[in-house]
Amino acid sequence: MAWDFSTDPEFQEKLDWARAFVADKVEPLDILYSHRQFHPLDDELRPIVDPMKDEVRAAGLWACHLGPELGGKGYGQLKLALLNEILGVSQWAPIVFGTQAPDTGNAEIIAHYGTEEQKARYLQPLLNGEVFSSYSMTEPQAGSDPQQFTTRASRDGDEWVLEGWKFFSSNARTASFLIVMAVTDPDVSIYKGASMFLVPTDTPGVEIVRNIGLGGESADEGMHALIHYDQVRLPADSLLGGEGQAFAIAQTRLGGGRVHHAMRSVATCQRALDLLCERVLSRETQGTLLAKKQFIQGDIADSYAELAQFRLLVLYTAWEIDQYQDYQRTRKNIAAIKALTPKVVHDAVWRSMHAHGALGVSNEMPFAGMWLMAPVMSVVDGPTEVHKVTVAREVLKGYKPSEGLWPSAHLPAKREEARRKLAAHIEHVVGNA
Ligand SMILES: Cc1cc2nc3c(=O)[nH]c(=O)nc-3n(C[C@H](O)[C@H](O)[C@H](O)COP(=O)(O)OP(=O)(O)OC[C@H]3O[C@@H](n4cnc5c(N)ncnc54)[C@H](O)[C@@H]3O)c2cc1C
Repeated sequence: MAWDFSTDPEFQEKLDWARAFVADKVEPLDILYSHRQFHPLDDELRPIVDPMKDEVRAAGLWACHLGPELGGKGYGQLKLALLNEILGVSQWAPIVFGTQAPDTGNAEIIAHYGTEEQKARYLQPLLNGEVFSSYSMTEPQAGSDPQQFTTRASRDGDEWVLEGWKFFSSNARTASFLIVMAVTDPDVSIYKGASMFLVPTDTPGVEIVRNIGLGGESADEGMHALIHYDQVRLPADSLLGGEGQAFAIAQTRLGGGRVHHAMRSVATCQRALDLLCERVLSRETQGTLLAKKQFIQGDIADSYAELAQFRLLVLYTAWEIDQYQDYQRTRKNIAAIKALTPKVVHDAVWRSMHAHGALGVSNEMPFAGMWLMAPVMSVVDGPTEVHKVTVAREVLKGYKPSEGLWPSAHLPAKREEARRKLAAHIEHVVGNA
């Protein structure tokens, strides 16, 4: 019997350690140094954060999903999913554990497609947690439809010249390098004519025009850059992978990234449920605890059941990735959890926020940030609609049209068939009546 929903005791011990460590040591960073996690450590934060990273390494949990050749433990995606259920409640925890987006995905593709020199220059500092990286694909005029991308890289002697605009390149302002997608062959489909480039952020011509924030973030907190690549000259060896390989590379990166967002969203939903339960056991109205009201009980049941379904699909998808080591083979479930994420986050956070009344919508509770995750999760790494289309296409591959006019479950034909199969028996019963 191979189905098993238990966590091995040794890894459970690590998870227990991580839960206590995040609550005790990392959460204070979230409270006092919110929005600083993607900035290089300064003299104030380095003495706090570096020893924490050392503790995580000593506990065997640093970048734990990566293989030993990349400084991790090779635990894979399923164990990362279990860990992310803990880290996902915190802004700082992924940084302290070496599992933050977009660096995890960026590291994966450099590990997979980079030359030895590129790995030494870009990957090693990233894996050591010394630098940040940015992924620059979306353009101001187009995100989910890459066919509208216009950023070009043209060959000029030994160099590439990059020209164009990119939008929402997360963390570009603090990244030491960018991974940029650009059209290198405009005469073929973009899926065959785009390439990836490794671009140090301080290369002349890389112009961050402004940093866009999310929701209520103040103007100086924005981390998502509008960038003009203004005739940026790059040496030939800036190409990551081969010419025309950008989409193969992007799929590797985005496949993992989407699952990691879902893993962290499990944590957001669990937190929302925990806060909901605590609140309704603490607050009375019209003579009873909120927990005794049936509307509230319905909310608890819905949040619990939806989270349980979502979590199982996330864990199953992580398990599939570990089994197949092939994002193409797991794309149906990756797309399914990507499409589910905004809805489960939306509903879980809404119920919890609402049960807290005015306090819930105030800036004295963490709900506003959690709430914003619902619309963010519905566009980051591609909008929900696009992922639903992928799910439907993959599901339909397992089906064929019915033969003839009537559906295969049409009862008159079924009845006829059943009579034919049971004819001998029916004749016997009738004959003996
Ligand atoms: C927090 C955050 C971080 C991000 N970080 C990065 C990053 O680091 N690097 C990067 O390159 N990009 C990044 N992005 C951009 C993200 O990848 C894009 O927002 C996403 O691909 C959607 O593109 P768009 O915003 O241009 O929306 P559009 O493509 O214009 O889509 C807008 C809306 O149109 C609808 N729509 C789109 N396609 C379809 C369809 N086929 N059928 C029906 N309806 C459809 C959907 O409702 C969709 O939300 C980030 C976005 C967010 C929110």
